[in-house]
Amino acid sequence: MSPAAPSPLPKGTTLLIAGARVMLPDADWHDPPMADIAIGNGRILGTADHYAHTAEVLDARGLLVLPGFVNAHYHSHDVLAKGTLEEVPLEQWRLYALPAQYPPRTREEVRARTLLGALECLRSGMTTVQDMLTLYPFDPVHLDTVIEAYESLGIRVVFALQYGDRKGLDTVPFWKEVFPPELHGQLSSAAEPEKNFDVLAHFEATCLKAPQRPRLHWALGPSAPERCTPALMARTMDLARRYRIPVFSHLYESKGMALQARHELAQYGGSLIRRLHAEGALGPEMNFAHSVWLAPDEVELLAETGAGTVLNLQGNLKMKCGIPPIREMMRAGVRIALGCDNCSCSDAQNMFATMKLFSLLATVSDVTKGPPPAIPALRAATEGGAAAVGLAGQIGLIAPGCRADLTFIDLADPSFVPLNSAARQLVNIEAGRAVRHVMVEGGFVLRDRRVTTVDEAAVFEEVMAVMPGFRKDFAAITARIAKLQPWLDKAQGMMDAAPIDIDRLPRLR
Ligand SMILES: [Zn+2]
Repeated sequence: MSPAAPSPLPKGTTLLIAGARVMLPDADWHDPPMADIAIGNGRILGTADHYAHTAEVLDARGLLVLPGFVNAHYHSHDVLAKGTLEEVPLEQWRLYALPAQYPPRTREEVRARTLLGALECLRSGMTTVQDMLTLYPFDPVHLDTVIEAYESLGIRVVFALQYGDRKGLDTVPFWKEVFPPELHGQLSSAAEPEKNFDVLAHFEATCLKAPQRPRLHWALGPSAPERCTPALMARTMDLARRYRIPVFSHLYESKGMALQARHELAQYGGSLIRRLHAEGALGPEMNFAHSVWLAPDEVELLAETGAGTVLNLQGNLKMKCGIPPIREMMRAGVRIALGCDNCSCSDAQNMFATMKLFSLLATVSDVTKGPPPAIPALRAATEGGAAAVGLAGQIGLIAPGCRADLTFIDLADPSFVPLNSAARQLVNIEAGRAVRHVMVEGGFVLRDRRVTTVDEAAVFEEVMAVMPGFRKDFAAITARIAKLQPWLDKAQGMMDAAPIDIDRLPRLR
């Protein structure tokens, strides 16, 4: 049989990716076919078995091309605290890691940490990152610095500020009764109310109303429903629907967060999801990070309303939060994306590690036989992430018309030899070593493992220059928390012992 004649190149093609195996949407992802991809004007213009080679050609034989990963939940505020903590439960970890505990940061530190975190994302094959950033106290110069840093690197960012209007002390079970009143001022959570500054109004005026830029997208970040009054959630949803942008919020990350709902939402059966449903806040624009302590009826309500979850399994295990009901969510048809969350709790911005945990924890979240999880893990990291960040059909797929955000994997790496299943080997064996090129909006940001846009060594020097200041503040915070430890432990013990109607922690029974 003679080979088929080459297809004519789509008009406007400026780069042809030729001869790779390609994760086309309808292909067998265990054994992806060879294909050519035509790129032009930042988009995928077409895919075919074989195009006539008249454009600039990238010889991609021996590579596997997949849609770039979407890190759908991440915070750049604590990048410099990676590797600092172990054995700290979630409610206490917030005191070490989150900006409300720190003195104001310098512009240099904000720039260095943003670039460093984004570089780690890029090198693990991510082309999009959803940064839910706390800038506390808010400083407009820092916001500009973060946006400039992302633009200079060239990774796609879906940026949200994290905000709330209830004090952390009022939203963590037992803290208020356990701590002496003179210590209340030292306690905080993921977002604290700004004094005399309307973060949302500023964000709308300076970001949402600004002209669009190619790799920059906006989202809204109400910290967690228990940290936001109904009035603030209503403002959030109004903005999300007017500007057609997604919303990200933390939900039921820990048992403490589920207990808080049981304690203060009797009128909604102790359910944050029922509260938000009654407030009209559940819909396709809504994404809940974590969702570990969701009850079965809440899973159903997410599926019915089109609200999605972003699972952050590395942090959930390290912070002793538990295992989300992954199989229940999949069975119910809940939209699922994956994230790597904070650098001090996950600690890796690595989508391969996250996909592997998704695959492994799906199987133990319900040990009866279920659908194989490797391909769902890959879809959650690509298409699922795209849907979460409001870019479904634009990223997360290798199809004509999509933006050309692609990750190229070297199949000569030991992870892929022999190639028995591309999907299973990506999810269960690869850890990032084989990422060779990363393309965003049609341009290479990583080419032959070298970053093309910023000087990576210079960024590391910028990081080292700000580390003495960061380490000094981190040490002062650690000393302050040590004095709070007896009361923190007491409150934690009460949270652990409190009865609740579901259980997401493995225990000896
Ligand atoms: Zn988070």
